[in-house]
Amino acid sequence: MLERVKEFNMDKVIEEFELMTKDAERVQRETLKRILEVNASAEYLQNFGLDGRTDLESFKSCIPLATHKDLEPFINRILDGDDSPILTGKPITTMSLSSGTTQGKPKYIPWNDELFETTMQIYRTSFAYRNREFPIKNGKALNFIYGSKQFKTKGGLIATTATSNVFRNPSYKHAMKALKSQCCSPDEVIFGGDFFQSLYCHLLCGLIFREEVQLVCSTFAHSIVHAFRSFEQVWEELCNDIREGVLSSRVTVPSIRTAMSKLLKPNPELANIIHKRCIGLSNWYGLIPELFPNAKYIYGIMTGSMEPYLVKLRHYAGVLPLCTADYGASEGWIAANVNPKIPPELATYAVLPQIGYFEFIPLTQLENENTFLCVNPQPVGLTEVKVGEEYEIVMTTPTGLYRYRLGDVVKVMGFHNSTPELKFIRRSSLLLNINIDKNTEKDLQLAVEAAAKLLVEEKLEVVEFTSHVDLSKEPGNYVIFWEINGEASEEVLHECCNCLDKSFVDAGYTSSRKVNAIGALELRVVRKGTFQKILDHYLGLGTAVSQYKTPRCVGPTHNIVLQILSENVVKSYHSTAFN
Ligand code: AMP
Repeated sequence: MLERVKEFNMDKVIEEFELMTKDAERVQRETLKRILEVNASAEYLQNFGLDGRTDLESFKSCIPLATHKDLEPFINRILDGDDSPILTGKPITTMSLSSGTTQGKPKYIPWNDELFETTMQIYRTSFAYRNREFPIKNGKALNFIYGSKQFKTKGGLIATTATSNVFRNPSYKHAMKALKSQCCSPDEVIFGGDFFQSLYCHLLCGLIFREEVQLVCSTFAHSIVHAFRSFEQVWEELCNDIREGVLSSRVTVPSIRTAMSKLLKPNPELANIIHKRCIGLSNWYGLIPELFPNAKYIYGIMTGSMEPYLVKLRHYAGVLPLCTADYGASEGWIAANVNPKIPPELATYAVLPQIGYFEFIPLTQLENENTFLCVNPQPVGLTEVKVGEEYEIVMTTPTGLYRYRLGDVVKVMGFHNSTPELKFIRRSSLLLNINIDKNTEKDLQLAVEAAAKLLVEEKLEVVEFTSHVDLSKEPGNYVIFWEINGEASEEVLHECCNCLDKSFVDAGYTSSRKVNAIGALELRVVRKGTFQKILDHYLGLGTAVSQYKTPRCVGPTHNIVLQILSENVVKSYHSTAFN
């Protein structure tokens, strides 16, 4: 049975983390030993001849590095109901479905109670450090979270997204209460099943409890920005609902209506306050503190693919600090933000040495990433990493993933005691590559940021973007899709297109462009709402909004997304930057 989450003691949690990280190497060995002991009977470990040994040296010499693809045959057997010890000693009864937005297809990943416990450990740790800097009183969180539907696999296992596995756990609510971060919306709103109706009611609940809201949060920052963009559209309707005490007819899910009717009472005074505050704003700057006067900060993952949303988030946040949340994946947690005052662009994450066994492949070993399957990477241990170096993360988790290549690249920025502080750099797969060019998600983000500056004078912004490599003609070229929040002039858009082309500064790209081995970059502007259609498409596939990340490169595995984009192109431009 899972231990109930105890009363929260900030000093004790900080003290424990300080102790653990002072002795990270020993804690890592113990963590590995614990994982291997409980899973000694697992077929996967037996097949590689580990034979019950739990020491690091045997582990590294017997067990190879693995990717999700290597584990699929084992995972498929579990999904089909084989309850023999395959990856773990105790059978896996629940699966998580990863967002799948990077690879185009969701992946099944084992889930168990230990993973819930490590989730709570991460939450408690970062909360302790956060609360020391930004103390919150007992209150509520306006938390834009959305549970996805649970379903049963062929073999009868429960499957849903990892975030839903967390939200549905009976101890979750209790833990959030202990962390003074109880969601202000009822469960019916979180698990309502219709994204927009849930979002509308999250906003409504936030407004009803506006004096009590201490923080505004979500798993990923995208959901917060999305929520307040939607607020701009529906705020008058929300005010009406509060004034009349009657929920808008746009909410049709009966369970949500029933739950909301218990909270919503006619309150013209509150409606007038909100109305007045909204009309007093200039272009919605500082909307969040205006609506929630007691909010202390905004919280959610803001690094990596979430960085492009920071400008808009800061705009809504006004004076409120932005605090990036922790670092992990459906596969398992890795590190916590223990320096919450640092702005997200500079944020690092300190690895919790007791929640998994971590190894790091120096990126220099993966020089030519296209051939990385041919090389035999030699990862180093948690305490052997070097400041300033970049690594791909390898993790061994309590859910039966052994030496698993997560596919993320991180940079070591320093140490917290003896555990490294990591900066998330990017997913390890290359995004844009035609010839000898190599451009990552980060390169794309920087190019888009540089070009989007040209729109500022016209008071416009890039709402969303993605990219595509068009190889349908010779030579192939990069295509960048933009959704803009208004009409930009032809001249400016052409300049933006040239700026994008010039902003990919990788020598492989510029030299190929100069000799026309890569064709002129194309900027395709899509209709407003196109990216919402892409989000809807992913929701239809079972992706949780809470875990959604816009795919930043649309490749052959995303053909429907490419179709949605192509059908919505309103203007397109070819770069003349290298003519
Ligand atoms: P999912 O596939 O939905 O489980 O998402 C996990 C992925 O999200 C990770 O492998 C990272 O690429 C990304 N991610 C998670 N936490 C962070 C973070 N704090 N900063 C940047 N990226 C993150």
